[in-house]
Amino acid sequence: MKFVWIILAAVLAAFGLALVLDPPATFDVWVLRKQAILLSGVAAFALMSAIMLLAVRPVWLERPLGGLDRMYRAHKWAGILAIVLSLLHYLLELGGPLLAEFVAKPAKGPRVETFLDVFRGSAKELGEWSAWLLAAMLVLTLWQRFPYHLWRYVHKALALVYLVLAFHGVVLAPAGYWTQPLGWLLALCAAVGSVCALIALSGRIGRRRAYRGVVVAVARPGERMLEVTCRLGRNWRHKAGQFAFLTCDRLEGQHPFSISSADRGNGEVRFSIKALGDYTRRLQDALAVGDAVKVEGPYGCFDFRRGGERQVWIAGGIGITPFLAWLEALQQHPADAPEVELHYCVRSPADAIYAGRLRELCDGLPSVALKVHYSAEEGYLRGDDLGMAPDADGRWPSLWFCGPQGLADLLRRDLGRRGMPARNFHQEAFRMR
Ligand SMILES: Cc1cc2nc3c(=O)[nH]c(=O)nc-3n(C[C@H](O)[C@H](O)[C@H](O)COP(=O)(O)OP(=O)(O)OC[C@H]3O[C@@H](n4cnc5c(N)ncnc54)[C@H](O)[C@@H]3O)c2cc1C
Repeated sequence: MKFVWIILAAVLAAFGLALVLDPPATFDVWVLRKQAILLSGVAAFALMSAIMLLAVRPVWLERPLGGLDRMYRAHKWAGILAIVLSLLHYLLELGGPLLAEFVAKPAKGPRVETFLDVFRGSAKELGEWSAWLLAAMLVLTLWQRFPYHLWRYVHKALALVYLVLAFHGVVLAPAGYWTQPLGWLLALCAAVGSVCALIALSGRIGRRRAYRGVVVAVARPGERMLEVTCRLGRNWRHKAGQFAFLTCDRLEGQHPFSISSADRGNGEVRFSIKALGDYTRRLQDALAVGDAVKVEGPYGCFDFRRGGERQVWIAGGIGITPFLAWLEALQQHPADAPEVELHYCVRSPADAIYAGRLRELCDGLPSVALKVHYSAEEGYLRGDDLGMAPDADGRWPSLWFCGPQGLADLLRRDLGRRGMPARNFHQEAFRMR
């Protein structure tokens, strides 16, 4: 979310400067309304441009923003905020006649000049249509029961809406803006956002990181669990803890999965897939050795090597996948393992599909202690159960979490109350929408 605040701060600073450089001649409620329309419009447009940038998965932004999964969360919240601001912009515009009922409208002064005045009418009309489309998108996004695969297609069309809004913004921004930092910011946003929208519309997102491959092994280690190993080209490399987008069926499109194996330099990757929805349920029986697949990636910065000497790793259910890759990677270099308590949280012994494999892997790593928790018998794991505390220098262990959001929230709250700094809590998000 820091990313969103930085953009809003840049917009506010540039807008404030524009007011200082070219202050309104008078100050009344009508001027206030006009400025609020402009500010909400510029802020919404800047956020939408940032959303377009995040949508093309720029690898160079992964480190500063904490990985692609977190970038998608920023994309989501920036999107919601941008739509709310666009609707506010539109409602303030619509509210003119209502305001006139209470406060007399001053005699019309000279019209605010815009850059491409001849397109003013069509830019306004297109802007209105876009506001309705954005409102519909907001409802579909917040209504989590709307099927993801349908939502994805509707969501893709937003790149086209963005181009329409770029036209709206460039045509209707006051001409005076273009010679000031606010105009330069708008121009940068429009240029970056439009290029990214064209990349999205032409289906080129992630193309340079896509590998064609073939399924070389399929296993079903437990109920509703599928393990698939794919052979990609020898150029493939990944770090343990990263994820990739797997496409097994062109019509269905890609789905993100953590890579549950370490990189052995042989171009093979393994995905451990739980049937959590329609497609992953169908996939359980659909995949066979020899099937063609496409893998795009790797992405993500879930990497314990950034976490110091004392660590706590917590996996909820299928959230064990990045930890399996870490443990596998450490087998070759056990001395690199920090002092770790690994908590594997499942409902019951029948759900502890990976407990045996984890024990084998931890046997080769003396500094990693494994604990398996059964929530049906012991209740959910709580912050107090972890016994985490700062060392003599006041430094807390780092915590690495992958699993259900509810469990993450619970632990974050418990440990926050005990004084653990929020930055010590690292989470791999298994949801992008
Ligand atoms: C970074 C990351 C790593 C993941 N790693 C694993 C893993 O190792 N093993 C595993 O079993 N699951 C993993 N998941 C979850 C997995 O992606 C979803 O369970 C799967 O995509 C659900 O698809 P579905 O059609 O069966 O379910 P649906 O019921 O259609 O979707 C359930 C939810 O999954 C998400 N989702 C569905 N389709 C997509 C898509 N194409 N792109 C992005 N999100 C989608 C949406 O939030 C949706 O609401 C991971 C998710 C993320 C974001």
